[in-house]
Amino acid sequence: MAAPTLEPVEEEGCAGRTATSGVEAALPSDPAALAPLCPHGPTLLFVKVSQGKEEARRFYACSACRDRKDCNFFQWEDEKLSEARLAAREAYNQRCQPPLSRTQCVQRYLRFIELPLTQRKFCRSCQQLLLPEDLGGHGGHQLLADISITQLRRPSQLLYPLENKKTNAQYLFADRSCQFLADLLSILGFRRVLCVGTPRLHELIRLTVAGEKANMKSLLLDIDFRYSQFYLEDSFCRYNMFNHHFFDGKAALEVCRAFLQEEKGEGVIMVTDPPFGGLVEPLATTFKKLIAMWKEGQSRDDSHKELPIFWIFPYFFESRICQFFPSFCMLDYQVDYDNHALYKHGKRGRKQSPVRIFTNIPPNKIILPTEEGYRFCSLCQRYVSLENRHCEHCNSCTSKDGRKWNHCFLCNKCVKPSWIHCSICNHCALPDHSCAGPKEGCFICGGLDHKRNACPNSATSKRTSRAARKQKQRKSNKIKMEPTKGQSMNQASATRRKKRGRAHQYPALKCPVT
Ligand code: SAH
Ligand code: ZN
Ligand code: ZN
Ligand code: ZN
Ligand code: ZN
Repeated sequence: MAAPTLEPVEEEGCAGRTATSGVEAALPSDPAALAPLCPHGPTLLFVKVSQGKEEARRFYACSACRDRKDCNFFQWEDEKLSEARLAAREAYNQRCQPPLSRTQCVQRYLRFIELPLTQRKFCRSCQQLLLPEDLGGHGGHQLLADISITQLRRPSQLLYPLENKKTNAQYLFADRSCQFLADLLSILGFRRVLCVGTPRLHELIRLTVAGEKANMKSLLLDIDFRYSQFYLEDSFCRYNMFNHHFFDGKAALEVCRAFLQEEKGEGVIMVTDPPFGGLVEPLATTFKKLIAMWKEGQSRDDSHKELPIFWIFPYFFESRICQFFPSFCMLDYQVDYDNHALYKHGKRGRKQSPVRIFTNIPPNKIILPTEEGYRFCSLCQRYVSLENRHCEHCNSCTSKDGRKWNHCFLCNKCVKPSWIHCSICNHCALPDHSCAGPKEGCFICGGLDHKRNACPNSATSKRTSRAARKQKQRKSNKIKMEPTKGQSMNQASATRRKKRGRAHQYPALKCPVT
């Protein structure tokens, strides 16, 4: 089952395309122009940005693969291809598709569940369920025998997570977070869940349905072909969430449409946990298409309603996500993952997860577990982290990362506990920052807590990058911050080293891809 497009490729960087090459999504010069196709569906238009400036010549590249090793599609926007090259590309795209059709997968699955337990085998090497006639082709492979129905219902535990691949970046929910989500969906009264890139949540919902009276359906949309072995057509579609592409064509799209529009669109929610290295803009574009599909099924007097959404993403993307979805707010709940050491729950000295839920459901409807360290703030009318204190000056519980933040009267807002106000930069920053130095901060907005590739203000303006350039110039004048009062130079640099150690972990936290 090793389709060429699903081959593992070793990870090399963090935040994907943007991090390695400074590339951003662009709008086509001709809005009617059709994007050329790669094996992952329509490609996206990108523009290279160096030193804050956009290069003139734009190009099409794969929407899904942030590593050229996974998909090397490249075409200049203004490039004209010969008929022969177009034909060769078409043939190549065909060859890259999985060896089995969706229908074949379903037929195999139906046969598999009819087999006696002793004949039900799974090849770990090929990540494939085996029928008796397949056995010959898997000599010397690592086989798992006696695959039970329970195991079949939990494919995310049978398959290995594709974690080293920029393309898939599979980070599976820890049981606690997955159970929390499933319970929450049920408490909120949803009857259908469109799971976009959440295979583990999908299977938990279905397991619960089987086990209890809970009346919830789930449809999984995911790019990982391996899941098509475990589900019928009505519960899994192979899908690319960066370009809204259904790999199995119109039939699959109709499955999704029917799911969203069932009961006139009542009782459905979309839950998505995209790879964090991906660009927010194409994801937002896709989600708007799914929203539109849902809306088509609404009666006209419901036109003000929104499709309920949970978008699971790191907190530092808050402004970026809210730019596209102004009605979304970020919950304090920290989403934990199984296979990422850094993304475990913050209690008992472990690293706190930066991953949050963004939603258009009013936060006062969402109860967070007090036993995991959340409390209700009656002023904000929402659950917050225990350490997130209500600031009377901001009139809100301001912490984003679960730690206690402090109000700065000069900045007129709350800031991270590790920050102090810098009178040179005229805002709060880490004590060891080099003043206005772009090296330590973001080239686009000058923010000191992230680099340009994770900039929440990325598309906002050229003004900010001009400001960043100015800051850079100022930096070259070598203004250094004085050590804090009572601190010797040595102490200051020791703190700096310590902080830098921490700062080094921080970018790693930004991206579960690595
Ligand atoms: N926490 C989730 C998994 C999130 S990992 C859970 O436990 O259920 C990201 C998921 O998105 C993976 O399942 C991966 O296969 C899928 N994915 C990655 N790129 C995708 C793309 N371009 N389109 C659709 N799904 C994608
Ligand atoms: Zn591709
Ligand atoms: Zn509050
Ligand atoms: Zn404040
Ligand atoms: Zn300040």
